Amino acid sequence: MGQQGSASGSRLLDLDGLEVVSAELVGGEWQLAVQTMAAMVGCAGCGVQATPHGRRVVRVRDLPVGSRPVVLCWRKRIWRCREPACGVRTWTERVPAIRPRAVLTERARAEACRRVGKDAHAVAAVARDLGVGWATVMRAVADHGGQLVDDPTRLEGVAALGMDETSFLRATRTAPTRYVTGLVDLERGRLLDVVADRTRTAVDGWLGARPHSWLARVGTVAIDPWRGYASALVARLGHATVVVDHFHAIKLANAVVDQVRRRTQQATLGHRGRKPDPLYRIRKLLLTAAEQLTQRRRARLRAGLAAGDPAGEVAAAWQGKELLRAIYATDGTPAARAALERFYHWADSVGVAELSRLARTVRAWEAEILAFHTADGCSNGPTEAVNLLIKKVKRVGHGFRNFDNYRLRLLLHCGVRWQTHQTARLRTRLVA
Ligand SMILES: [Zn+2]
Repeated sequence: MGQQGSASGSRLLDLDGLEVVSAELVGGEWQLAVQTMAAMVGCAGCGVQATPHGRRVVRVRDLPVGSRPVVLCWRKRIWRCREPACGVRTWTERVPAIRPRAVLTERARAEACRRVGKDAHAVAAVARDLGVGWATVMRAVADHGGQLVDDPTRLEGVAALGMDETSFLRATRTAPTRYVTGLVDLERGRLLDVVADRTRTAVDGWLGARPHSWLARVGTVAIDPWRGYASALVARLGHATVVVDHFHAIKLANAVVDQVRRRTQQATLGHRGRKPDPLYRIRKLLLTAAEQLTQRRRARLRAGLAAGDPAGEVAAAWQGKELLRAIYATDGTPAARAALERFYHWADSVGVAELSRLARTVRAWEAEILAFHTADGCSNGPTEAVNLLIKKVKRVGHGFRNFDNYRLRLLLHCGVRWQTHQTARLRTRLVA
């Protein structure tokens, strides 16, 4: 298309009410002159037919075409009311596709929000691609994403609720690590919300904001063995079965293995783990589920323990971890109880302080651990999956400072359903 406007150009642009007057490639960018097709407009004050009063060009960035950025040069019409008795003098036209004073078209803003939210791209990267500032993109994310997140139907129909704490800001020299609590729909693997802090009050506040019918539907709650939550649950969700799920129990057991390994390294070598240290080299193998170890990795694990664990305490902690895992792998409550007894017996007999402490925690949460076998829809998968997504968003965001932004980004990534157009395949390969 040259300097002349064309109907097909306008159709390709596909912006309601705007037609393409001309298209020009300027420095690798498409510059499209566009205008409305309005020919007759009535005054909003008196209804008398308005007369044109010139134009003003505003430049707005739109979605790219091909790999080229697009700038719309909107020749915005100014209208004038000539009715002497009317208070209205002049006004500029408006279109739904472009907000007043906007730098981006509405669809470009929606796309910016989708990339940051659904695809977890960095705000800065999206801003760079669109040739606008960081704040412009973040505003688009807040406007478009806020609507998705605030949609009341988003929270409907939760039967199994998961709660988990994750760190929000790492500790600095002057401030401790700040935590948030994530609430997950365990059946659908969706993040429902994130509340600041991991205290009883934080969880209670969120639950308190739910209608009674919502709370009544929740039959199962899976939690981190953190006392603070429990009392909030009793108050609001007394009818629900509380479960300490597989994911959280293993997290605790892994922490014990790590603690004993570090203590042993310090005691035998006099320093923290370093690359060539035998225990440091098997730190990840120690946390791997036993049945996932190949013969070679098993041999490496044994060799590392033989070289770096003279008192056998790390091996004992590892065995304790596996025995705790076995409780969850059993079928039915009687078998789980027997596995639990084997775990207690082991923890009592080996006398490793960290493991004894774990056994005390397990005793305190025994009912909730065994409930794992009777509760419906309570698998560790969703919480774990959501946690991985949370980590991804955190990595992209390079550590958030602002809790509201953090919450919005997390919910957009793992808490809303995106309705996006599925592009049809041009050619379908025929399978012979
Ligand atoms: Zn008027």
